[in-house]
Amino acid sequence: MLQHVCIIGGGVIGCATALELATAGCRVTLIERGALGGESSWAGAGLLSPLLPWHYPDEVTRLTDWSRALYPDWIGDLRAASGVDPEYRACGMLVLPPYDLAAALAWAGARGEPVQELSARSMLPALAVDDFALWMSQVAQVRNPRLLQALRLALLRRGVQILEHTAVTGWRATPTRIEAVTTAQGAIAADAFVLAAGAWSRELLGEQGAEIPIKPVRGQIVLFKSDPGRLRQIVYRDGLYIIPRDDGHILAGSTLEDVGFDKGMTEAARIDLSRRAAELLPFLEQTPMAGHWAGLRPGSPDNIPIMARHPSIENLYLSSGHYRYGVTMAPASAQLMANLILGRPNPIDASPYRWPALKSL
Ligand SMILES: Cc1cc2nc3c(=O)[nH]c(=O)nc-3n(C[C@H](O)[C@H](O)[C@H](O)COP(=O)(O)OP(=O)(O)OC[C@H]3O[C@@H](n4cnc5c(N)ncnc54)[C@H](O)[C@@H]3O)c2cc1C
Repeated sequence: MLQHVCIIGGGVIGCATALELATAGCRVTLIERGALGGESSWAGAGLLSPLLPWHYPDEVTRLTDWSRALYPDWIGDLRAASGVDPEYRACGMLVLPPYDLAAALAWAGARGEPVQELSARSMLPALAVDDFALWMSQVAQVRNPRLLQALRLALLRRGVQILEHTAVTGWRATPTRIEAVTTAQGAIAADAFVLAAGAWSRELLGEQGAEIPIKPVRGQIVLFKSDPGRLRQIVYRDGLYIIPRDDGHILAGSTLEDVGFDKGMTEAARIDLSRRAAELLPFLEQTPMAGHWAGLRPGSPDNIPIMARHPSIENLYLSSGHYRYGVTMAPASAQLMANLILGRPNPIDASPYRWPALKSL
């Protein structure tokens, strides 16, 4: 049994993994450069499904199916441990054209998921368009800042040591083992290390991370403040999603921008997202805008994360590259990583998430 696991990166992936390992009896230290959950995991929209899931490879679907099945109990446990409601809501998603009906129905049929085509306005009279649409009643959402707050409290309750405002700057390693990570506050030794630094994971590995195909992909979201109940379901059309929260806030997102580590917001994105949202739901034209933000997703080819042990460094693990669906994938990723680290069997084949071949650290 491992005694001490050190996790680098306090986003939803690092936090969920820390909680899983601590629940399994490990001593866990979580190191975060800024405030816990202050990066992509905070900025995300909290939609708990791939957008048009039938377009994704099996490696994504297997992980998101597993995670979605875990979500209700995971949230129940978090709520009980923290007293915080992360607002997990199975509010459903209305998908407006264009969509591939045959592919959608085949995907739904294969997993017994209810997906039906209906008149969009029969479901949502406020829509400006009167098309047929796909109704995906089981799609859920969560409210990211609340999820992260619940995770923080659950971690503290489990005795996880959280070191915030502590950047990992390097590694003290032999060719086969990491002995410690270095920080400005000193070195931290552990039996195993999990790198979960999101878009920054590759940079932290230095030259040895050159083969890791993870890069930042900026996403921007705009926020409206409407009345509670004005919109009840998620609406999606052609890359744009609109998500209602319990208290009347409505999110519209998101952009996909290849601009490196630039987390800035742009006027063009604010105008484009709000215009496209109001084209679908005209009441948004009169709804005050309450916010606009950007985050850096850990982008990966085909949205397939790497969750694996280093090929030659026996106590170094990577869990990153969850790209557009890290919040969706978090509970399953955490279980998969804990199973790998603790030598327990995994319910899905973990080999598609292997570490790409690379030189030793
Ligand atoms: C606009 C937008 C919308 C999104 N919408 C959704 C959605 O609807 N559904 C969904 O499932 N996903 C969504 N995502 C994606 C999701 O947010 C990410 O996949 C997920 O947050 C990745 O989590 P992470 O923990 O890997 O990364 P992060 O949350 O970025 O966490 C990584 C952490 O590592 C820390 N770190 C970096 N370097 C160091 C260092 N040297 N030392 C210590 N710590 C370090 C960072 O400070 C950061 O807190 C969205 C993302 C964005 C930006």
